[in-house]
Amino acid sequence: MSTATALSPEIFAKYQPVIGLEVHVQLLTATKAFCGCRNEFGGGPNTHICPVCLGLPGALPVLNKHAVEFAVLAATAIHCTVNETSIFARKNYFYPDLPKGYQISQYDRPLAEHGWIEIPDASGATKRIGVTRLHMEEDAGKSLHDGFADSATKTYLDLNRCGTPLIEIVSEPDIRTPDEAYEYLTRLKEILLYTAVSDCNMEEGSLRCDANVSVMLKGADKFGTKAEVKNVNSFRYIRSALEYEIERQIEIVESGGRVVQESRLYNAQEDRTYSMRSKEQAHDYRYFPEPDLPALIVSDAWKAKILKNMPELPEARRKRMVAEYGITEQDAQVLTASRSFADQFEEAAKAAKNPKRVANLVQGELAGRLKAAGLELEQSPVSMKGIALAADLSESGDLSSKMLKQLFDICFEKGDDFPAVYEREKPQQISDTATIEKMIDEVIAANPKQVEQYRAGKKTVSAFFVGQVMKLSKGQANPALLNELVIKKLDG
Ligand SMILES: [Zn+2]
Repeated sequence: MSTATALSPEIFAKYQPVIGLEVHVQLLTATKAFCGCRNEFGGGPNTHICPVCLGLPGALPVLNKHAVEFAVLAATAIHCTVNETSIFARKNYFYPDLPKGYQISQYDRPLAEHGWIEIPDASGATKRIGVTRLHMEEDAGKSLHDGFADSATKTYLDLNRCGTPLIEIVSEPDIRTPDEAYEYLTRLKEILLYTAVSDCNMEEGSLRCDANVSVMLKGADKFGTKAEVKNVNSFRYIRSALEYEIERQIEIVESGGRVVQESRLYNAQEDRTYSMRSKEQAHDYRYFPEPDLPALIVSDAWKAKILKNMPELPEARRKRMVAEYGITEQDAQVLTASRSFADQFEEAAKAAKNPKRVANLVQGELAGRLKAAGLELEQSPVSMKGIALAADLSESGDLSSKMLKQLFDICFEKGDDFPAVYEREKPQQISDTATIEKMIDEVIAANPKQVEQYRAGKKTVSAFFVGQVMKLSKGQANPALLNELVIKKLDG
């Protein structure tokens, strides 16, 4: 909860927050939803436009088949039923970055309905969040308010984004805490990335989220009045915005006031939300069926063809990987963070002698260093091939864990992959029996008490000797050989 709170835990405990999320996702088609313009982020302002996406008189939209295929794939991945017939509708509103004066969307007959996404709840159990609907629509352009000499008095328009294909995914008001909202979004993004329908890049606006939130007294049978928090650009900020908003609404209700139905903007610097405008009702948009497009028919045959491209989804993949590689649920969570990463892991796990060791290295050596360097898994200097080599070298005893750590440090310092660093820095491992025996003798002579303990039956003391000799050798003694020789000496 935000630190500014004046509300006691007792007051918080009286209320039940109710949250629903609307997520807009740009689809990765080569061209726009209803014209042949290129669908890509950036480009010189107003260079990817044509009479159709500008809505010039007489221009007619033609639906992009690939956009439908992506939408069907995404809808099925979140367990929605795809309707055979859906209808495009005009959503009318006036805004400078919407030159047509309406957005082509879907209203009462969306592409898909009645889905769900599973999330872990606070107790670690699985909770199912309903998905009301998934519908197709197009994006608007962008108003540019900053960065020009006359920005103080003028707004510029870039219409490249006009007509970018979107899906909007609307959840049921099943979410009860900001943490659950965070989990829902994380799972949804993961599924969308696996199906490869979007790059889900939040900085570039490929995935945008609006949150509806209200509070009611626990046990009440009617939801409170909701406010909508718009366009927050990270999942972390959505969680903070919801925490702030829940607190704000409880304060209003506690002081005898009424929550106003409105849209609010979140300011991340100040960690608070501001009133933006009163929320439109559906009738404000004067929806009517789009006369320039026929009904969208997704036949069973077409659907079956589309679903041939359905990949193994993250949840199923985690279950399979736990069974197949003997790794933990926690390992599987990390390793399936992205589809390409999971692919790489599986390739490495199949190549390595011990898949579990590969998983351990990812968790133990890679994850922490990536976090410290502020890198995503995809940006790791150490590839999965590198991890597989490291796993094999430590499995065979050719690399002590200390050396392994040093090599990983060098990889991250220089930005080089493990195999290259290993070749270059290959530690001069001591595998000469006589040299190691000499060091063991030295350690044994210096620690008569431990020798006594060992010979009295406390066999675990051997680890102490291994550690001491390893230290003496500056981490360079061959660990497998060292182990063997220590036991031999102590038993001898
Ligand atoms: Zn166009």
